[in-house]
Amino acid sequence: MTSKNEAEKGLSFTLSEEQEKVRDLARRFAQEEIRPVALKFEDDREGTLAEQVIDKAAQAGILALAVPQEFGGGGGSNVECSLVLEELAWGCGGIATAIGASWFGQTPILMAASQELRRQIFPPLAGRDKGRLVCMAMTEPAGGTDIENPHMHSRTVRTIAREDGDYFVIQGKKIWPSNSTNAWLYTVVATVDPAQGDAGSCLFAVPADSPGLSVGKSIPKMGMHADQNAEIIFSDVRVPRQNLLGKIGDGARLLQRTLIYNRVGAAAIAVGIARGAFETALDWAKRRITMGRPLIEHPIIAAMIGDMATGIEAARLLYLRAAWVNAQPKGARMDWSTMAKVYASDMAMRVTTDAVQIMGAYGYAKEYGVEKAMRDAKIVQIFIGANEFARQLVGELTAGGNR
Ligand SMILES: Cc1cc2nc3c(=O)[nH]c(=O)nc-3n(C[C@H](O)[C@H](O)[C@H](O)COP(=O)(O)OP(=O)(O)OC[C@H]3O[C@@H](n4cnc5c(N)ncnc54)[C@H](O)[C@@H]3O)c2cc1C
Repeated sequence: MTSKNEAEKGLSFTLSEEQEKVRDLARRFAQEEIRPVALKFEDDREGTLAEQVIDKAAQAGILALAVPQEFGGGGGSNVECSLVLEELAWGCGGIATAIGASWFGQTPILMAASQELRRQIFPPLAGRDKGRLVCMAMTEPAGGTDIENPHMHSRTVRTIAREDGDYFVIQGKKIWPSNSTNAWLYTVVATVDPAQGDAGSCLFAVPADSPGLSVGKSIPKMGMHADQNAEIIFSDVRVPRQNLLGKIGDGARLLQRTLIYNRVGAAAIAVGIARGAFETALDWAKRRITMGRPLIEHPIIAAMIGDMATGIEAARLLYLRAAWVNAQPKGARMDWSTMAKVYASDMAMRVTTDAVQIMGAYGYAKEYGVEKAMRDAKIVQIFIGANEFARQLVGELTAGGNR
């Protein structure tokens, strides 16, 4: 028989002290700096308040978590980053999305930038003086899902990079990326020629102050107001050759690997949004009286609460398993991270909708934040791999014996 200690070695559900520390820092930050202002982001059309919160996140050392320690960052793995995103999203889905998307844009730089480029990029990203965000500029007006879809082999990318001596000249248009209007750096998905498929695919790190790079106004939208989404225009933007991440033809592979890590982040954001709404609804259900007793004592409401709690726990286990395997030296798994994203976002949609239902008209009111959570949750079913496409992908990977 396996002793208790041996069993624990094999399957442990305990976070390390370091992981608890970083999660608790994010939890405190969300309680003190995000949740108290979460309902104000909707009216913060210029993103001024969001910028202040992001600056405070930099000061607290949260933004630096994804930066390698050699450049002054926290060196957090997919596990720590996801734990932090859940906490931030408990405070506000939009702030978590802005920070998670910045880490999304940093991932290919981590994987493929030259040491010289890393030295230029990472120390400022770890800086505590000011919040600097990266924008992962992937989606284009003709469609986002096809660009993420490995079966399309980068053939739908219309952002073109042309070689010109020691430079590349980038021409094209992106739309919707998080941090569109306020990024310090853009990680750009491009191609030298869409007809070449993956062989022409390439990613570039493009500083925000590059001549020819311009951004439109933040697009009004349903939720995630603390995140700025707009059109980004690259009009003959010249970048030095060393800003190419890896080499021509590496773009598709880098993007797919990046998506593996960042779908887990999206799952964690979904869990945080759901947990925030769930706690508010649970508290309400304990205090609201109907038929002379608290709502929670009605069996159907207790069952709803039970299902909500189960969904949150299950989604957290899924994202932590995916994050853990992604953090192993050769362990990144597209199927597990995509499962976590699909399951967690569908769960968050259900849980936030049920939270509104349990609170009745008060849930529908802006004041309690649960209708905001419902609106924020919706996009997680769409971004970083729309769930219809993502489900098919999991099915294909499963059928292909990738499990
Ligand atoms: C708040 C927010 C943050 C975002 N952050 C980023 C970011 O950081 N970087 C970035 O590049 N983009 C970002 N986006 C854009 C987002 O990733 C895209 O909206 C998403 O990829 C879907 O692309 P699309 O809107 O062009 O829809 P389409 O690709 O046109 O898809 C529309 C719908 O069609 C269905 N569909 C599409 N393809 C398939 C398929 N193969 N099989 C079955 N059904 C399919 C799905 O239902 C899908 O929802 C963000 C958007 C928002 C609103």
